[in-house]
Amino acid sequence: MAQNQNSPARYTITAALPYTNGPIHIGHLAGVYVPADIYARYLRLTGNDVVFVSGSDEHGVAISMKAKKEGVSPKEIIDKYDGIIRQSFQDFGITFDNYSRTSREIHHKTAGDFFKKLYEQGDFIEETTAQLYDEEAKQFLADRFVVGTCPKCGHEEAYGDQCENCGSSLNATDLLNPKSAITNTVPTTKETKHWFLPLDRHEAFLKEWILDGHKSDWKPNVYGQCKSWIDDGLKPRAVTRDLDWGIPVPVKGGEGKVLYVWFDAPIGYISSTKEWAEKEGKDWEPYWKSADTKLVHFIGKDNIVFHCIIFPSILKAHGDYILPENVPANEFLNLEGNKLSTSKNWAVWLHEYLQEFPDMQDVLRYTLTANAPETKDNDFTWKDFQARNNNELVAILGNFINRVVVLTNKYYEGVVPSPSEFSQVDLETLEQLKKYPQIISSSIERYRFREASQELMNLARLGNKYLADEEPWKVIKEDEERVKTIMFVALQIAAGLAVLSEPFLPFTSNKLKNILAVRSSGVETSWNEVSTKETLLPSAHQINKAELLFRKVEDKEIQAQLDKLEATKKANENANKELMPQKDTINFDDFTKLDMRVGTIVEAEKMAKAKKLLVLKVDTGLDTRTIVSGIAESFTPEEIVGKKVTVLINLASRALRGVDSEGMILMTENAQGKLVFVNPDEDGVGNGEGIS
Ligand SMILES: [Zn+2]
Repeated sequence: MAQNQNSPARYTITAALPYTNGPIHIGHLAGVYVPADIYARYLRLTGNDVVFVSGSDEHGVAISMKAKKEGVSPKEIIDKYDGIIRQSFQDFGITFDNYSRTSREIHHKTAGDFFKKLYEQGDFIEETTAQLYDEEAKQFLADRFVVGTCPKCGHEEAYGDQCENCGSSLNATDLLNPKSAITNTVPTTKETKHWFLPLDRHEAFLKEWILDGHKSDWKPNVYGQCKSWIDDGLKPRAVTRDLDWGIPVPVKGGEGKVLYVWFDAPIGYISSTKEWAEKEGKDWEPYWKSADTKLVHFIGKDNIVFHCIIFPSILKAHGDYILPENVPANEFLNLEGNKLSTSKNWAVWLHEYLQEFPDMQDVLRYTLTANAPETKDNDFTWKDFQARNNNELVAILGNFINRVVVLTNKYYEGVVPSPSEFSQVDLETLEQLKKYPQIISSSIERYRFREASQELMNLARLGNKYLADEEPWKVIKEDEERVKTIMFVALQIAAGLAVLSEPFLPFTSNKLKNILAVRSSGVETSWNEVSTKETLLPSAHQINKAELLFRKVEDKEIQAQLDKLEATKKANENANKELMPQKDTINFDDFTKLDMRVGTIVEAEKMAKAKKLLVLKVDTGLDTRTIVSGIAESFTPEEIVGKKVTVLINLASRALRGVDSEGMILMTENAQGKLVFVNPDEDGVGNGEGIS
């Protein structure tokens, strides 16, 4: 039932529900939220009826588990991250009409009713299977709650669904020596009943709807993944779980069970729409049930199967709902060549970015759009971020606007001049400007946001080239009338940019609209009017003073980010480092041969031409001697003078770079790879005290 929806009556736009077990990072923004927001803003600007919804996904094993590990309630976990995530969306200008939470009553009811209806229609099958059970905690153990030895590689801490050592996917019952992650006891096996969605029953419909119906309009990466799922043959999938955190299964026999999180989460879009409609005094139903509504899901590629195969099967089975018209899923964004990872802290966190680059939301939005992983995985690099900012936003868009506004203020005290006769170039330039709404629309409507962002930049390029060719700053000396016309044309382009930049650079667009003072009636321009209106900024209109839209990003700022990532990498390496195995046994006499004393560093200096070495003078209680130590990468000389240390004093002296070193300072290393002194943990231990 692929509908022909060239001019839908309304749009329902959904963005993946972020999982509330951590904050969000650039990968989420690039993959889902920025493109969805561009699309929603664009549709509103072109006068469409739009509802743009999302919400926090707050059920599931991972949250339940994190809560148990940290000894808090799941609610504490979800409240914390829902708050952080909500703030990030607000900070980056993501214009949800409603952002809900799946833990809310309205969602529990919506999802529960959905389940009941499908259950009553006979759309599920029931099956009893054996599952691991924790007698002490009195609960069935979901995959992640079981640890044991991997049957494939022998790794002793494999999870019930996967071994992180060899990557094999497992069933909890495959594990050797399984243990409950909650109580550490050995689980028993118990029978439990669950409901399954028989996806195989929907195969014919999915083939027709996707493989025949959306071959040409869905992105190849999305279509390809669906095709391979369908070609492999679809199997029944459990829609319930034995867990105490989630939406209770609302039918007889469902006691102690909850809806599987993948079943309830997408229904969250519907709940969020209902919540919005209630607040706005509208009817939610047309947004989900009318054939003239266009439903679009924005998601990352890891969610394709849920949004293209499973959720549509549920909607179809229910019978009252429309299906998504498109699911423009993105591939993954990597960071400096490595996969983004929350657990490894390999990410640019949005709240941290804003601390380091305050008021520069649009730069990140632009960089992520210009380099979006639309058709394949892509890499975010800080060098590219700097180049997009300095070479495009600053040098092209910012530079053009700044010249136009500064010159208008300088020559005409900020009043838009009256043009005299237009030259051929003027007319062609104004003609070009009128084409941009259509050019950019066409890219956005085909979900090509990278291309759209580059077309916007091309309009700024057009303006820049026009000024560079016409050189009003030179012409002003001989032909003042001509300059009025040049500035008039340039101001029209600036006004066009103020409107067309809004979906991509909303903060900049807002600033630019303030500078050009276009919010007064008669001057305000809609997206389509950039094409149709005779003039966008009329003569005699007063604009404001120039204000910098973008600032240059310096090399040292980029280096600081790269250093931060390097430190993260080191910390990860250290965290995963294999500990040195125990050395050969020694006897007590061997140990007493070592003469270790407490000492104090009294002088320290860098050794010339040696990056790692410091030359120290150490008071050992017996004498003050020279020791050369390889700690220069962890400490400056200044910070260690006066430091209490442990010294091995009877080590045979040896020359290092011509300096005799008479002893050794005992060191260890912290998780970040920084050296750390091994020293007495109490003051008042005198130099020369022996260590035994
Ligand atoms: Zn393994």
